[in-house]
Amino acid sequence: MGLLNSLKLKLLVSATVSAAPPTVQSMAEAERVVALNALLAAVKKQRPAADAALKHAKALESREAARKDIEVTLGQVTALVLGGINDDGLRSEVDAGLTKAQADFAKRAARRRHARRHRTASRRARCRPPAKASSPGTPPDPGASMIVERIWTGNAYRNYNYLIACPESGEALAIDPLDHEKCLNAARVKGWQITQILNTHEHHDHTGGNAVVVAATGAKIIAHYNAGSRIAGVDRGVKAGDVIKVGKTVELECLDTPGHTMCHICLRSRTETPALFSGDTLFNAGAGNCHNGGNAEDLYATFVEQLARLPDDTRVYPGHDYIENNLRFTLAREPDNAAAKALLPEVTGQDPATGRVTTLGEEKQINTFLRLSSPSVIAALREAFADLPEQPDPKTVFVKLRELRNKW
Ligand SMILES: [Zn+2]
Repeated sequence: MGLLNSLKLKLLVSATVSAAPPTVQSMAEAERVVALNALLAAVKKQRPAADAALKHAKALESREAARKDIEVTLGQVTALVLGGINDDGLRSEVDAGLTKAQADFAKRAARRRHARRHRTASRRARCRPPAKASSPGTPPDPGASMIVERIWTGNAYRNYNYLIACPESGEALAIDPLDHEKCLNAARVKGWQITQILNTHEHHDHTGGNAVVVAATGAKIIAHYNAGSRIAGVDRGVKAGDVIKVGKTVELECLDTPGHTMCHICLRSRTETPALFSGDTLFNAGAGNCHNGGNAEDLYATFVEQLARLPDDTRVYPGHDYIENNLRFTLAREPDNAAAKALLPEVTGQDPATGRVTTLGEEKQINTFLRLSSPSVIAALREAFADLPEQPDPKTVFVKLRELRNKW
């Protein structure tokens, strides 16, 4: 249970927020109580999610075989801790602890990987012919050069994971496969081989599934060229304009998109109908936050200079499902936005597993962060910021909107 202990130790650093002395006898139990108290205090704003993650972590702790799940849960818990800690020094200390725990885990996983791969390969050779590009029930669209499988994790953070597959070879790229179980299972059902992982950025609710997917598939990890010190086991660092090939037919161009963090990559597909995998930069009807290593002015530049310039028919695949809450924010900022008003009932309470995929053209109508010149957005903004200039520049509007969204 070294991983969980490592997090506990780091949490103990932040235990000063917990005043209540432990009331149980055993030292290990007492440590846990202090750590859990600290965690809950640190993330009280997100208490229901923290409670659920911790319950899961505690349940897993009693299962020696569940290291991989602990790794993911650690990632989720730590994402909450980091989100709840306002002290930068403390946050980076906790983050460093988790990164080291992940690196240790990845090392152990790598040692097991080789043997496992050989076992799997020989089993496959014995039992069945090589996997085809698709399972019998789901023939690939013959016209499609890229298949996108969106995987709804159903977790407290509302993450979407993605598999992008080549219909000819069955090779697949996994984007931020936090829910490794669902990702590996989807690949198995489709008869795909995950050969690469792309982390859009370094937050643990995006990287937390890497180690298990690598251990199971031997996939190579790809991330922003500056993310190497923050993500364990990166095999390939990418920069703007680099192309990731998947199998024979899929080409994904890397966009360097700082703002949510400074090491964020979005992918744009080179397909007839383009797709944008936007991580935590552009959400449906919203924009990523900037409080864990990001910067609102850089996010503005990313929106205006890169994302807004993509074709209107670009399909948008974000890292989380926040559409309902984001639409409500749009309507709070721009009450006369007819498109947002019309869409809200459709997405209210929708199942994110089958939720709609928006296009960039739609986003320009419903996403406040792409409507920086709208007179009603500016008028409402002036009510919140009386000192707003008569003709505010779009960057100011964006930064102020982001500020309001932080408190939304
Ligand atoms: Zn993030």
